[in-house]
Amino acid sequence: MNIERLESKRAVVGDGFEIRRALPNRHRRTIGAWCFLDHAGPAEFAAGKGLLIGPHPHIGLQTFSWMIEGTILHTDSLGYRQWIQPGQVNLMTAGRGISHAEESPADAPGRFQLAQLWIALPKHESDREPSFHHYPTLPILDRGGFRITVLAGRFDGELAPAEVFTPLVGVDLASQGPARAELTLDPAFEHGVMGLEGSASVAGEMLAPGALLYFGPGRDRLVVDAPAATRLLLIGGEPLGEEILLWWNFVGRSFEEMDRATRDWVAGGRFGRVEGARGEPLVAPDPAGLRLRATP
Ligand code: MN
Repeated sequence: MNIERLESKRAVVGDGFEIRRALPNRHRRTIGAWCFLDHAGPAEFAAGKGLLIGPHPHIGLQTFSWMIEGTILHTDSLGYRQWIQPGQVNLMTAGRGISHAEESPADAPGRFQLAQLWIALPKHESDREPSFHHYPTLPILDRGGFRITVLAGRFDGELAPAEVFTPLVGVDLASQGPARAELTLDPAFEHGVMGLEGSASVAGEMLAPGALLYFGPGRDRLVVDAPAATRLLLIGGEPLGEEILLWWNFVGRSFEEMDRATRDWVAGGRFGRVEGARGEPLVAPDPAGLRLRATP
């Protein structure tokens, strides 16, 4: 039952939003089918200075947005226009292709904290039709001083509503003060726990914001002990068992697939149009860089 300690990469996006990117990590690309994990904020912003991500395409993955503080508007090429509030999840299944945009309210100051994750679709589902779902309420458990929100999959007998295509789990753990709980895990899964706010001991290892502890398969419980207010994100799943390429906003299996998706984004067509987004469409990087990396 190996344990690895990983550190996220820090970056500042937009008008000073600090992002901590835990996945993909140089030392670990995926945890189950989870292949991307950003923790953004918490941050305050002035009117007109919030998050503004213009239209951009995705293939081969699901985007999973867990809103912790503040609100964001999602718009996409299927015509969905959905505000997401704290405690809610937006799940967009890109499949063969979709485009979307995300933005904060334009005209008011605000506060913002979000976990943005991607779930790789298995090969046999990677070309499915795109879809979007908003989940306004999620199962919540109280355990040993933790308020536990089941974001995805099944945890402690509760099943989250999000439609996923591989066995996986996602759980938010938040405490207002000292808390201690023994969590039951699926031993077929590998798991990761990321510190979002405050510090806690996880299986005896100290975990601070931005750090990620990885637990290999074979573990059926995890003791989490927080001396004070804390927030943690637990993700896990059956090891993916297939090689994926992650490039720009795409998950695929070959250079040709990425190249075609890039051309289709430049040309329009496959990814549709996002109506009513404030941001400018994002420009794709040149996939030639990927060919250089992918060719031995
Ligand atoms: Mn996106």
